[in-house]
Amino acid sequence: MNETNEMTGFLEDASFNQSPAFGDVDLFSADKPLSEAAARCGLDAKALAACGKDYGSAETLDLGRVANENPPRLRTMDGKGNRIDFVEFHPAYHALMAKSIGWGIHSGAHDGSEPNAPLTSRAVRLYLATQAESGHLCPITMTHACIGALKSEPDVLAKWQAKIVSREYDKRALPWWEKAGVTLGMGMTERQGGTDVRANITEAALHGDHVEISGHKWFMSAPMCDAFLVLAQAPGGLTCYLMPRYRPDGSQNAIRFQRLKDKLGNKSNASSEVEFHGAWAERIGAEGQGVRTIIEMVNLTRLDCAIASAGQMRFGLSQALNHIRNRSVFQKRLADQPAMRAVVADIALELEAQIALVFRLAHAIDKGETAYARLLTPAVKFLICKSTPHAVYESLECLGGNGYTEDLPMARLYREAPLNAIWEGSGNVMALDVLRAAGRAPDATMETVGALVRTAGQAFDVRRLAAALEKTLKSPDAERRARFLCEGLARLAALAALAEANSPFATLYGDARLTGFPFSQYGAADLGASEAALLDRALAA
Ligand SMILES: Cc1cc2nc3c(=O)[nH]c(=O)nc-3n(C[C@H](O)[C@H](O)[C@H](O)COP(=O)(O)OP(=O)(O)OC[C@H]3O[C@@H](n4cnc5c(N)ncnc54)[C@H](O)[C@@H]3O)c2cc1C
Repeated sequence: MNETNEMTGFLEDASFNQSPAFGDVDLFSADKPLSEAAARCGLDAKALAACGKDYGSAETLDLGRVANENPPRLRTMDGKGNRIDFVEFHPAYHALMAKSIGWGIHSGAHDGSEPNAPLTSRAVRLYLATQAESGHLCPITMTHACIGALKSEPDVLAKWQAKIVSREYDKRALPWWEKAGVTLGMGMTERQGGTDVRANITEAALHGDHVEISGHKWFMSAPMCDAFLVLAQAPGGLTCYLMPRYRPDGSQNAIRFQRLKDKLGNKSNASSEVEFHGAWAERIGAEGQGVRTIIEMVNLTRLDCAIASAGQMRFGLSQALNHIRNRSVFQKRLADQPAMRAVVADIALELEAQIALVFRLAHAIDKGETAYARLLTPAVKFLICKSTPHAVYESLECLGGNGYTEDLPMARLYREAPLNAIWEGSGNVMALDVLRAAGRAPDATMETVGALVRTAGQAFDVRRLAAALEKTLKSPDAERRARFLCEGLARLAALAALAEANSPFATLYGDARLTGFPFSQYGAADLGASEAALLDRALAA
């Protein structure tokens, strides 16, 4: 079997005891927790399975690799010194963009194509897409979220709507009205103030029917979007504007990209530093109400961060399972080694809870459960986005040395994983936002928490946690304990989501995450006889 090939000089069967490449998998149907969550929300499993097959194909997964090995490049000028401010992307990136726009992830929640749970249905597709590649989803998610903010200026939305909801990706650098479809980005963050957008110094000056914006943004991703929602200071205070790449007369708008960030991961996506030199823009929402206008958008992007992080955790777990089921050590498959089973089953348990939680949240928004959504969106983003890097790291280690190489997707996933926790409000900002939501609507908060306690209590005794959360909420020292409150609420909601779904793992989740020794490494929890079921459900053979 292991004879040397005379031509190549390699052993004939070099793949002996190596796990097969992961690919040509229906990412939807192979994921029991996901398909069950979709069924609970009344989604069309057949359509989602087609989407799962598309993103799980070996060809699509390889596009993800290629798009990241060939990052975008900024060309500020042409050969004659004219400003062109053009970012060149690899064809693999464009292919991924075309695919995700084709699946409607950029606008499907708003275009009426999904009358039944539109946000949740689109969320499933985002979760599937992110497993193939996360970077291109930046403009996709921003387009989806910008529609939320544009609703506050119906005339502008009406003008752009047909181009935004188009399922045709058009990469050409042309005025938006000449294109078959468009994408939208956003520029909030400045050097001196990211989280604190009120510290923005970029200015808007009125010129007849439009404004001209001068200043900069320290981060503005996907700079080849056709327009950007931008925050700038107007005489009446911080205001939101829509800034297209081309002025109405067809000339290039005064948007000057300075350079692209050299990032830890997220390599396929371009994140620019940019200056505006009197750039043409039109107002979105009332003057001085910039924060209120973008809040709709931010809530949608925060939910997307959580969904995408769950998808990343999922992809890491799939890689781990694929490996341990096919690799033997000491004459025994890794998947049959008790210490390995404990680790992977523990990740699977975490993912069971996070899938139940994040799709419960998406469905709550679809159903108009505003109090639940307001309190839990930041908490869920906090918990899931912060858990993913650790789970991805453990999944990487399950592949041993191979996991650490660039030949497999784990190294890229590991670099990508911390990002969702940072953008759209970093960890502390999420924890403080939970406090803010609770402070603004104390009665609705106590009602939501009460309902969570009752539902979660059917599976596990949460009285101690409930009392601690209530004490923290009422404490004058609550800000210092904001992370406890945030994680506690998210874990309570995860347990409630499992209980509501009649999950056989609800009680186990309470046992493993809310009691016992405060150990934090995967594999430390005693999952007993549930290990087999968790592993079997996580990835269909
Ligand atoms: C790859 C990438 C792409 C990006 N793309 C875009 C984009 O397209 N458009 C855009 O507008 N922005 C973009 N951003 C910026 C991103 O949204 C911000 O970096 C993020 O919101 C944090 O802001 P900051 O960097 O200014 O950090 P800061 O606001 O300075 O925060 C630093 C730290 O302090 C913490 N903190 C903040 N306030 C408090 C407080 N009151 N108490 C305790 N702790 C606190 C935060 O949690 C954080 O950990 C991007 C960032 C990255 C990394």
